[in-house]
Amino acid sequence: MSSITQFFPWQTASASRWLGDRERFAHAWLVYGPPGIGKLTFARAAATSLLCERPTGALACGTCQSCSWIANDAHPDLRLVMPDRLAQQYGLQDAATVSDSQEGAATKKASGEIRIDQVRQLDSLLSVTTHRSGMRVIILFPVESLNTASANYLLKSIEEPAPGTVFLLVSHAPDKVLPTLLSRCRRFCLPMPTQAEGLAWLQAQDLSGTQAETWLHASGGAPVGALTLSRASTEPVSYWLGSFAQSLADRIMPEMADYLPKLEKLQPEEWLGSLQRLFVDLMLQSNGLAPRYFPRLGPFITAIAADVSPMKISQTASWLARQQRIADHPLNARLFIQSVLQRVCITCLSKNA
Ligand SMILES: [Zn+2]
Repeated sequence: MSSITQFFPWQTASASRWLGDRERFAHAWLVYGPPGIGKLTFARAAATSLLCERPTGALACGTCQSCSWIANDAHPDLRLVMPDRLAQQYGLQDAATVSDSQEGAATKKASGEIRIDQVRQLDSLLSVTTHRSGMRVIILFPVESLNTASANYLLKSIEEPAPGTVFLLVSHAPDKVLPTLLSRCRRFCLPMPTQAEGLAWLQAQDLSGTQAETWLHASGGAPVGALTLSRASTEPVSYWLGSFAQSLADRIMPEMADYLPKLEKLQPEEWLGSLQRLFVDLMLQSNGLAPRYFPRLGPFITAIAADVSPMKISQTASWLARQQRIADHPLNARLFIQSVLQRVCITCLSKNA
């Protein structure tokens, strides 16, 4: 039997306190915090604890019928709703959601949104009584990926809650969530773990001390994000950003043909995020501070920042943030990559006025 999802070490204490007050536990929660700190794991572990028939303290026992159903991904009173694209990334995609496309699964680009039909499907779950403990848990991850129609539909279910139902709305960015939906939820903030907690956990995942430090830096202090980065074949520095930054540091125009096919394989928010972090490091460098995200690129960052005015760097950083907001819907992915990279090159290669 596989095992149940456990809280990360930096979550256990706050989870126990939060789940301990079961009598007054709200029926809808916004669980929020920065990306890469393990919020989905937190929500799944919380759901397991809420559904457990013999919780120890407030946490799941791991051995009761409910826990064993969850360990086998077969609990009828637990539902996880996420965009198809994420479900694919997590290896959770079920065939039914893909094949409902008229165009056929092969040609359909997986959606980055939680669609209204996914939220409608909850109706059948909510209309029957619960199977075991009298509770059911619905996790939406991340809740900002609900489109307007699906968010409004969900709002109705939350306003008229079925007995025993707990909604866990997990969010990286509560400011992107429909305000009426937010107003129905109580908030639970998951903070960034301390650096010591992050490093200790990464080392327990078989990363050396130096590796743990490098990846924790690159992910802005988020340990789960750091581990994902360390295992990704598309880790930005070695995949593209290192050679790209080196060209800029050497004041040579990077060869677009080297980067377009690589970046096309990534989600736009991924490579744009790497560029945004590079620009944070350039801004820090302009102010005489050490790079925060890419210490490994330190010499390149120093060389680039030496030749570009701080104002140009910060203008391009704001421009990149605006591109990030439209990144999910570029009309033409290749053109979008090209225009962003060109803007970055112009900023970094034109001589300081
Ligand atoms: Zn249990």
